[in-house]
Amino acid sequence: MSPTSDTTSAGRRGYTPDTEVTYVKGVGPKLAEKLAKLEIHTLEDLLYYLPIRHEDRTHFASILDLVPGEPATVKGRVVGVESRRVRSGMNITHAHLDDGQGAIVLTFFNQPYLHDKFARMKNEIIVYGMVQEGRWGLEFSSPEWEEVEPEGDAIAAGRIVPVYGLTEGLSQRSLRKVMHRAVSTLAKVIPDVLPPSVARSQRFRPVEWCIQQAHFPDWLENQREGRRRLVFEEFFHLQLFLALRRAQTAQQTGIAFDIPEGFAREAASHLPFSLTRAQQKVVREIYDDMRRPRPMNRLLQGDVGSGKTAVAACAIMAAARGEYQCALMAPTEILAEQHGRVLRDLLEPSGIGVELLIGRLTARQKEKIRKRLAAGHGPVAVGTHALIQETVSFDRLGLIIIDEQHRFGVMQRAALIEKGLMADVLVMTATPIPRTLTMALYGDLHLSVIDELPPGRRPVKTHWKPPGERPAVYDGVRKLIDRGRQAFIVCPLITESEKLQVQAAEEHYERLRTSVFPDLRLGLLHGQIKGDEKDAVMEAFRRRELDILVATSVIEVGVDVPNAGVMVIEDAHRFGLAQLHQLRGRVGRSEHQAYCVLVAEATDEKMRQRMETMTRTNDGFVIAEEDLRIRGPGEVYGTKQSGLPDFRVADLVADKEVLEQARNEAFKLVTEGGRAELEAAKTHLKRIRSRWGLVEIS
Ligand code: ADP
Ligand code: MG
Repeated sequence: MSPTSDTTSAGRRGYTPDTEVTYVKGVGPKLAEKLAKLEIHTLEDLLYYLPIRHEDRTHFASILDLVPGEPATVKGRVVGVESRRVRSGMNITHAHLDDGQGAIVLTFFNQPYLHDKFARMKNEIIVYGMVQEGRWGLEFSSPEWEEVEPEGDAIAAGRIVPVYGLTEGLSQRSLRKVMHRAVSTLAKVIPDVLPPSVARSQRFRPVEWCIQQAHFPDWLENQREGRRRLVFEEFFHLQLFLALRRAQTAQQTGIAFDIPEGFAREAASHLPFSLTRAQQKVVREIYDDMRRPRPMNRLLQGDVGSGKTAVAACAIMAAARGEYQCALMAPTEILAEQHGRVLRDLLEPSGIGVELLIGRLTARQKEKIRKRLAAGHGPVAVGTHALIQETVSFDRLGLIIIDEQHRFGVMQRAALIEKGLMADVLVMTATPIPRTLTMALYGDLHLSVIDELPPGRRPVKTHWKPPGERPAVYDGVRKLIDRGRQAFIVCPLITESEKLQVQAAEEHYERLRTSVFPDLRLGLLHGQIKGDEKDAVMEAFRRRELDILVATSVIEVGVDVPNAGVMVIEDAHRFGLAQLHQLRGRVGRSEHQAYCVLVAEATDEKMRQRMETMTRTNDGFVIAEEDLRIRGPGEVYGTKQSGLPDFRVADLVADKEVLEQARNEAFKLVTEGGRAELEAAKTHLKRIRSRWGLVEIS
């Protein structure tokens, strides 16, 4: 949208938040192209592109007082400049800066044009950098600098200076310059979208002030205050969305399942083990929800191996008792099969049939199952999300169980529930999500946590070995196999392509089979091995006809072989912590002590920290928190994988407290806020919906 085409805006000369960034003074097509790489397309995008940090350059130091090893800002005149080309072909420019008291050398690399620029320069310059002890005394190497325009106000020095994230070909100087202009003249076009009562209770300053101070603060205190509002706004609207959804479902009529008081005990009596206290508690919470005449919306969170499937089975038994059908959706085919198999074992003794609907059935087989489900039989259908969602209609669907495994995000889930009739919904997640994220992702759900493992489990002992110790690692594996255990060996992760991954897995398998374990029985499992062949390998491993299963990370989900006593993960540093934890969860499912060996080269401090976290704890929640701390939410929860909204300003780790406040205010507004305010907030939510891909809210 161009600024002149809009006459309604209160903004300066018709600018609106949606004005294309090219209309901002100083932004030409070239710069706009670079900004687009940073997802900056509109004026609003630009104004909300906050600095990654600030540098306090409020004071000019005297060159005489400079101390090597400390950053400093100085102001002076360039009194001499020379350039030369060194043998490597690099151009080096030295400028001599004098502030009237002392002199310092500024060194620049491969910027030959600086020579003439400095030679002709009349004005003083302001320089910011790290003071070093150079060959000719004090030196700044590649410092930031800015010319002091006699009447202009310097933006890169003499103040608290923003530092922005950049992209190739975009310099700090030019972004800062454009930003300064936009922030000081156009921030006023950003509307104030927070409900007034919320802004008041949070004591927020006007949004224009907040944007200005978040970029070019007068004091660091102001910067924090300004930024806090922008972060809050972002969290607030997402939480408002979740609060509205929650309120919406609370008003819908759902199924009031008739579940007798003692039924939890009866259901559990059909299982081959007695439920842990945590499982019992969670089953009670689920039954209470199911009894209510409102649709259940509950998240069941529990670490790998905590026994969520048994809980799901209890929920299914209660639904089936009232002649309702159930659908269980898994994110992958392998996991769907696993669930199908386990649920059959758990449910068939009590006479509940399980239909497994997976991709590799023939069209006839699928059609037959669909017909049965449409006629009200089943009563349990297990399949992938896509299969059940798109192709099945049920006669009396009462309960939907979604096994999420961190692959569906909040948006997809909402869309699904949208279609999900009035059925009760139970979302199971094995990913230990830090509390901060639970709120951001699942704020519309009620939460049940299984915080206890089945009895007799010994924590998996985890060791970290450098690649040079592989022979010893393989010796250890052999010893365990001699004692009757089995082993997993997970191949190095190749992310470039599936084809390369398969090739690498095959090579690794061959090497192990021929030169390391020629006398043992090995099997191979990777993404290209399909259907019957895969089943055959899995079955053979389960029946102990194989000693070692060499696999790619496909076994992350869906393998439950209690006799497996050790898992070796090759090149473990290439995996995310959450994934390593999931993989490790495949062993330690019996009373025998189990081991996990991470074979990894630690090339940097972050990797070292991650490997040490794995060896130190078996607690998925601790691991998730650590992962988040070490790598940050962007890396840990890449938006595509997690479905986590892509925050522009907010940081889920650093801004935890603001999230909590925003959540409280949003839920308060929905339950006890004024009508007009709520309506206005909803209108705004509609406007930003597409940005987050949120579903419709009535
Ligand atoms: P999750 O899905 O939470 O990772 P599962 O439901 O697959 O965990 O359970 C892991 C293993 O523990 C399974 O082999 C299951 O049979 C077993 N199990 C579950 N609950 C109990 C229990 N209360 N007592 C003993 N074993 C259990
Ligand atoms: Mg499971």
